[in-house]
Amino acid sequence: MNNIAERLQSARQRIQNLCKQAGKSAGPVKLLAVSKTKPVDDIRAAYQAGQRLFGENYVQEGVEKIQQLSDLTDLEWHFIGPLQSNKTRQVAEHFAWVQSVDRLKIARRLSEQRPATMPPLNLLLQINISAEQSKAGVADETELMALAAEVNALPHLTLRGLMAIPAADLDPADQIRVFEQMQRLFVKLKQQYVQIDTLSMGMSGDMQAAIQAGSTMVRLGTAIFGERHKAADD
Ligand SMILES: *Cc1c(COP(=O)(O)O)cnc(C)c1O
Repeated sequence: MNNIAERLQSARQRIQNLCKQAGKSAGPVKLLAVSKTKPVDDIRAAYQAGQRLFGENYVQEGVEKIQQLSDLTDLEWHFIGPLQSNKTRQVAEHFAWVQSVDRLKIARRLSEQRPATMPPLNLLLQINISAEQSKAGVADETELMALAAEVNALPHLTLRGLMAIPAADLDPADQIRVFEQMQRLFVKLKQQYVQIDTLSMGMSGDMQAAIQAGSTMVRLGTAIFGERHKAADD
């Protein structure tokens, strides 16, 4: 596998196979192509191969790419990285989704700064599902439901679901366990809010467990664009 179109094709095939394996309740699962540190030509190549959803982690880099690719009007840009309050405006003005919100302050700013001419910004709340000290994310169900209620009341946002990045070193049984915990939180949230439809979990190494547990969106970077060399700074 040496080009982006082939890698994409094989990723789609793998997702489809995992959905089949997981049974009839699984799928459809969307594929978010994580293009951080990769040049816009790579994104164009993925676009040519039919990919429309792209994820970026760094505000400045993401906004530059969005501007450079503004001729492709049906791209859907997801911000998936850590977001500080001094950068929310850029995100609110350029992205369609933000997957990494875990504080009301950030959600409020995104809502205030979302231009009235744009559709509501789609939002996922990030859960710190492995309870890692170093990771961002909402800690537990109580905190989640409280935050969701406040976010749901904000005018220029649409709360769509949850996102998680579990610890990288879990064995398959633990992957299943944490993803099932996510699924339970997702179901709880859905019972409260009708528009909830997105559970973003699963990367190259844990996609099987994520899909089995009900993921609706997996995020793949390296598997599509190859290894990242440049260390992005933001
Ligand atoms: C970088 C990143 C990915 C993709 O990681 P790969 O290992 O390149 O597939 C997925 N999700 C998030 C939040 C990321 O930051």
